Amino acid sequence: MRAYERLLRYVAISTPACETSGVTPSSQCQFDLARVLADEMRQIGFANVRLTDDCFVYGDLPATPGMEELPCLGLIAHMDTAPAFNGIDVKPQIIPDYDGGDVVLKGTGDVLSPAQFPGLKKLVGKTLITTDGTTLLGADDKAGVAEILTACEQIIQSGRAHGKIAVAFTPDEEIGLGVLHFDVEGFGAKYAYTVDGGAVGSLSYENFNACEAVVDVTGVSVHPGTSKDMLINPCLVAMEFNSMLPSCETPRDTEGFEGFFHLCDMQGDAMKARLVYIVRDHSAERFEGRKQQLKHIEKILNHRWGEGTVKLTLREQYRNMREMIEPCFFLIENARKAMKIAGMEPHDIAARGGTDGAQLSYRGLPCPNLCTGGYAYHGPFEHIAAEDMDACVTMLAELICGPRN
Ligand SMILES: [Zn+2]
Repeated sequence: MRAYERLLRYVAISTPACETSGVTPSSQCQFDLARVLADEMRQIGFANVRLTDDCFVYGDLPATPGMEELPCLGLIAHMDTAPAFNGIDVKPQIIPDYDGGDVVLKGTGDVLSPAQFPGLKKLVGKTLITTDGTTLLGADDKAGVAEILTACEQIIQSGRAHGKIAVAFTPDEEIGLGVLHFDVEGFGAKYAYTVDGGAVGSLSYENFNACEAVVDVTGVSVHPGTSKDMLINPCLVAMEFNSMLPSCETPRDTEGFEGFFHLCDMQGDAMKARLVYIVRDHSAERFEGRKQQLKHIEKILNHRWGEGTVKLTLREQYRNMREMIEPCFFLIENARKAMKIAGMEPHDIAARGGTDGAQLSYRGLPCPNLCTGGYAYHGPFEHIAAEDMDACVTMLAELICGPRN
């Protein structure tokens, strides 16, 4: 079976995550897919297949004879789809031998155009899979699920030698809670790849260092008619705080490895004001520098307006996985080799966010992210080519059968 055929079956099962449910899995519908996958893994020949109460599917491919000594390699993909756009009743459009032109999404009349999505030019002649415009597609990350299972099936059928493989399909990646309950020990892999990236050849082993910065300002409220030299307006102090940050280091003005301060909430009245920022940087050193910068502003403003006027609270969120990947950089080298064998041009992408792999890396499971072949995730223009999925299957098969150091 080809990976895209699996994908078409999986996207027919709706699995949107729910941001507000507060339980794992966040939506019961994720079990519908989990059960299908667990059954399929048993049919393919996985051992030790288990579906947990919190909707994780685990299973192993035991090593072939003589390969038992190799460290266990993990492959991970997520089953949920983004709550950002409708994920229910997905009706894909399949366009064989795509001509490179505009594609009308029949459910809405919206047009998927290479003018807006230049990646489409690379898909000419391939079998293009799109949405009908009313939903997302769910290739994020059901393409990853389909590619992992197809690669494992091919390996078993071909009889190629390989070390032990551990596979996990997880819930709730899209709401950042996916790996909170991940059983790293039970999974048993020494290192793993998430298969949850974009265009073929893309490879991620870096993400932001991240913290939240809350600035609380306490003012002195006095009748404005008689307040000369007494009143301290907390809203104005808050604005002063923000004015001391570099105004060009915002998400709008940065890309690649450039970090930022992002003001995401502000409130204030005559008594109190609060600013909430997220702070991001790939470089651990510059990230520390950003925190120092915030502390310096706190100090200056307290000196100016009186001790206790400004209170800065920093809350760590996640860290760049690179330092955890560095000691096992062969994972990256092996992935690049496997991509080349699959006909891809490997290119590094520094994730401007956090990933499941980053969380897992800091829990002792180094975990770079591999491509799935998909584009324009989380919306109606999501698309993927069947042939690119085949290439991802080849890449995964090479990794499964390749060296483990
Ligand atoms: Zn994803």
